[in-house]
Amino acid sequence: FTTFASIEKPINPSVKIEHNQLLIDGKFVDAASGKTFPTLDPRTGNVIAQVAEGDAEDINRAVSAARKAFDEGPWPRMTPYIHGLTLPADGSYHVQTLHEPVGVAGQIIPWNFPLVMYGWKIGPALACANTVVLKTAEQTPLSALYVTSLLYEAGLPPGVLNVVSGFGASAGAPLCSHMDVDKIAFTGSTETGQRILEMAAKSNLKSVTLELGGKSPFIVCEDADIDQAAELAHFALFFNQGQCCCAGSRTLVHERVYDEFVEKAKACASKRVVGDPFQKGVQQGPQIDEKQFQKILKYIRSGVESGATLEIGGDRCGSKGYYIQPTIFSNVKDNMLIAQDEIFGPVQTILKYKDLDEVVRRANATQYGLAAGVFTQNLATANFLSRALRVGSVWINCYDVFDAAIPFGGYKMSGQGREKGIYSLSNYLQIKAVVTPLKNP
Ligand code: ADP
Repeated sequence: FTTFASIEKPINPSVKIEHNQLLIDGKFVDAASGKTFPTLDPRTGNVIAQVAEGDAEDINRAVSAARKAFDEGPWPRMTPYIHGLTLPADGSYHVQTLHEPVGVAGQIIPWNFPLVMYGWKIGPALACANTVVLKTAEQTPLSALYVTSLLYEAGLPPGVLNVVSGFGASAGAPLCSHMDVDKIAFTGSTETGQRILEMAAKSNLKSVTLELGGKSPFIVCEDADIDQAAELAHFALFFNQGQCCCAGSRTLVHERVYDEFVEKAKACASKRVVGDPFQKGVQQGPQIDEKQFQKILKYIRSGVESGATLEIGGDRCGSKGYYIQPTIFSNVKDNMLIAQDEIFGPVQTILKYKDLDEVVRRANATQYGLAAGVFTQNLATANFLSRALRVGSVWINCYDVFDAAIPFGGYKMSGQGREKGIYSLSNYLQIKAVVTPLKNP
């Protein structure tokens, strides 16, 4: 791989930070406690800005604003088009369903795609006439504040979308336990997802949708186009520094093409350009923070200790910031930690298999079920695998295709519910049955 000198000498971008307060009821305000916390530059670990740190009291203020905006309007009454069904029923009744907004939605997002996660969350919630309290990830508070300010500039009524920066335990948890919140949508780790369901159950049984972790298989069949498979397996894992819940993080390759595939995977990794993301031509920037950086390096050490073959990489890049070399392990076995845990970094693990039944069994032998890649030229194999894999997305001869119309979400411990497209609307709508006798009694 190529590393750019910009790792040691970061570029100074001319980006002005416009907003660092909380956004409650259409106004930027300080945290009730007056507290702030630093947001850090992963290229250096230096402070970018201090940001207001919301806690339970700010969540209360934001939920009150969202509640008022929902109960008093105008937002829920402004939506031009929400539709239901007319249903046949026994007896002389006219039966119709109305689809109505759920109410106040609490939304908690992670740091890996701060704006994409923001869009996936607020889009369907607002389109279905709900009001929102969004808690951003503590690592990435700035972009949601800025974009929400643009929504208000465009005429969003006060209180419809409130943004609270802060930490999980002190701002996220009070939102999940709040008695006036009707629904929680969360993206993040499986462990936190479990806690959120518990908080929802113990408070007011608010409905919950979850998009959690993964350890997604990327299956390369013996008849696949190996060049294309190696390039897409590389993209599937290394995209966004490996910080993707649906990263193709178990590359399972048929034994007959295994050696050829490993060589090609290595060639892809060796061409990867690592450097300051503000520099043109860079493909891989730093990991988000020191914690993730150390965690990934620990997994790399564990891969070496457990006997996998380190083909390329394996260390940090440069001496500054949280850059990690594109890393590949071959001869990985299912019971190794690097084949089981979500590493969330630029570490590709390549495993060998013999036949389709075996690969299905192994691909499904995980608590997760988020996504899978299938590489084959055989239609029957593609159809067989796409039905046998217990995952929410199967990409055949492609990966990470994320059109807004395509539903995304997990089986098993990768989540509940689907985001994007028409399926996401059901997370934000109640169904009301309205029954009227056809004749007056
Ligand atoms: P990650 O490991 O990706 O940081 P987390 O699940 O810890 O995943 O974080 C994702 C989001 O969940 C962040 O916005 C974080 O602040 C929030 N969060 C973490 N812990 C809790 C919690 N106990 N209750 C509510 N939200 C939480």
